[in-house]
Amino acid sequence: MKTGILGGTFDPPHTGHLEMAREAKAALGLERVLFMVAGQPQLKPNSNISPAADRLEMARLAIDGEEGFSVSAMEIERSGATYTADTLEELKRQDSVTDRYYFILGWDNLEKLKDWHQPLRIIENCYIVAIPRKGYALPDTEKLEKELPGILQCLFLLDKPVIDVSASSIRQKVRLSQDITGLVPEKVAGYIRERGLYKPNPL
Ligand code: ATP
Repeated sequence: MKTGILGGTFDPPHTGHLEMAREAKAALGLERVLFMVAGQPQLKPNSNISPAADRLEMARLAIDGEEGFSVSAMEIERSGATYTADTLEELKRQDSVTDRYYFILGWDNLEKLKDWHQPLRIIENCYIVAIPRKGYALPDTEKLEKELPGILQCLFLLDKPVIDVSASSIRQKVRLSQDITGLVPEKVAGYIRERGLYKPNPL
């Protein structure tokens, strides 16, 4: 089985995440895509991210009704720092039906992959599927290979979709009481409203 993994903070999950997962699934013939919800991300240590329980629940609401999509709490349940390199190995140990993993990320993160924890362990254990991100140029493959030898042998550089949405812009809109219709699935918008997420703390 071919399994895609879309790792993210999902604060909140948005239509960009769904579109990139759908495109990767179609382009590479993936049977399923796991939305891997991050614990406290190592590269965003100072950010004020929402509680894991909220991000997990929003991810579940976001994928509701999407064939082949599921949510994993593996990184949230692991104590201490969580690294993609460990996650891939843990998945491999637990899952006997997958023979190929495809880690899906945006072009913005492809450029940063070399700075992730033990990136060589990551590319030894999966293919990388990189999705365009508005504002980011086509990655320079020669430079990527120089910085992370072996990456080109496992990289699928897709040229669509291009979706101009980010979790940070959605949080900003909610903070300013602006409309987020169409940027997140309706059930996620409802959850954000109900829980009062991204609103400034009352004084
Ligand atoms: P933030 O704005 O808070 O940085 P984000 O929108 O990038 O958040 P994450 O949960 O951090 O959301 O992203 C998970 C993965 O999805 C990352 O690999 C990121 O590059 C990718 N991604 C998110 N939005 C898009 C998008 N619109 N186009 C392409 N890739 C995206």
